[in-house]
Amino acid sequence: MRMSQLFTKTSKTAPSDEMAKNAQLLIQAGYVHKTMAGVYSYTPLGLRVLENIKRIVREEMNAIDSQELIMSSLQRKELWTETGRWSDELVDVWFKSHLQDGTEVGFGWTHEEPIIELLRNYLKSYKDLPISVYQFQNKLRNELRAKSGIMRGREFVMKDMYSVHATREDLDVYYEAVIAAYKRCYDRLGIGQDTYVTFASGGAFTKFSHEFQTICEAGEDYVYLHRGKNIAVNEEVIDDAIVELGVDRSELEKVKTAEVGNIFNFGTQKSEEMKLVFTGEDGQQHYAYMGSYGIGITRVMGVIVEKFADEKGLVWPENIAPFKLQLVAIGERGGELANQLYGTLIKAGVEVLYDDRAERPGVKFADAELMGMPWRVTISDRGVDSGEFELTSRQSGETVTKSYDGLVAFFID
Ligand code: ATP
Ligand code: MG
Repeated sequence: MRMSQLFTKTSKTAPSDEMAKNAQLLIQAGYVHKTMAGVYSYTPLGLRVLENIKRIVREEMNAIDSQELIMSSLQRKELWTETGRWSDELVDVWFKSHLQDGTEVGFGWTHEEPIIELLRNYLKSYKDLPISVYQFQNKLRNELRAKSGIMRGREFVMKDMYSVHATREDLDVYYEAVIAAYKRCYDRLGIGQDTYVTFASGGAFTKFSHEFQTICEAGEDYVYLHRGKNIAVNEEVIDDAIVELGVDRSELEKVKTAEVGNIFNFGTQKSEEMKLVFTGEDGQQHYAYMGSYGIGITRVMGVIVEKFADEKGLVWPENIAPFKLQLVAIGERGGELANQLYGTLIKAGVEVLYDDRAERPGVKFADAELMGMPWRVTISDRGVDSGEFELTSRQSGETVTKSYDGLVAFFID
């Protein structure tokens, strides 16, 4: 991508109406546009990051035999009255509206009820089970506060997955497979080391649900950690959990975290409420066992910004960076050779953001630091003369010099 063609521009200053670092930097660098508080649009740069996060999550969900679908945002009220969750007392984030004929509808803040209604159509016998489906979908939640930038949106992208099983044992096995798959996701996203499987409230069939909590100063949660035993407990359930897990409160360290995922074992509770049944081997009708599993895709993007950014700007881990390198051309002869390198790299499938603008070097370097690609390559007139070109790591700030062929080999091999 040539920067001269990129319609978004960086700005010199952070927006004054944003308190969260993630939103400040993402807006300043041209990754997101603020529509209103808690609502953001993603520009081509921001979309590339989201798609990279989704690609990793998609690969891991496919690997545990889940099938991707996409459901509607508009939802029927009747479904939600089956479980009582149409109630604004029970669910305080509903956006609701009505059709022209007066029929009430809701905008999806989760798809637990709608997926059961969908699967009721297809599920007949135990031979149809297990089923696992997932989607990436914009959820709409009328959140009271929206001060955390993209980490708490009123509209945000969630990966939600639902599994249905004939037996409790089969659900338990799958639930563990999901935990393992989630760990692989967070590892590949670069936040695995700081992400803990956490005992949390909201358990239905089981006493606890499991959250995936990432240590992050900008998070909204507190978790008690036992690093040695690798135990983490959300502060909401700390008293219950201490009894259950047999740990002493004094051994636990309180840390600020962001919830990047949450999984639930519903047992047969939802199926009983909504009559999700199948014919068993015994010819009888049985309630299905169900699990529900979410990852906050846009929140993960915000957490990554918060954790890796420095005083100069964004720092993207290689796996999710929108481009692998920012190629900075300086001077006329530098520009000619940079054109050649750009052509060679993109032909080989390397993602390059090519700063071909007629700007001063200082402006280009500052933008490269703000925008946060893992590598910066500088092709200047001086480099053309000496045959040596700078390769700078955004993360460490270190610069090494390479020959032209050395650069090509570094990115293509
Ligand atoms: P929270 O406690 O942060 O409000 P939640 O428990 O209501 O979240 P879930 O219904 O479990 O959220 O949703 C699954 C995942 O979606 C969460 O683990 C989180 O990563 C993400 N998520 C939830 N609400 C938001 C939001 N308003 N903005 C961005 N991501 C969100
Ligand atoms: Mg949750």
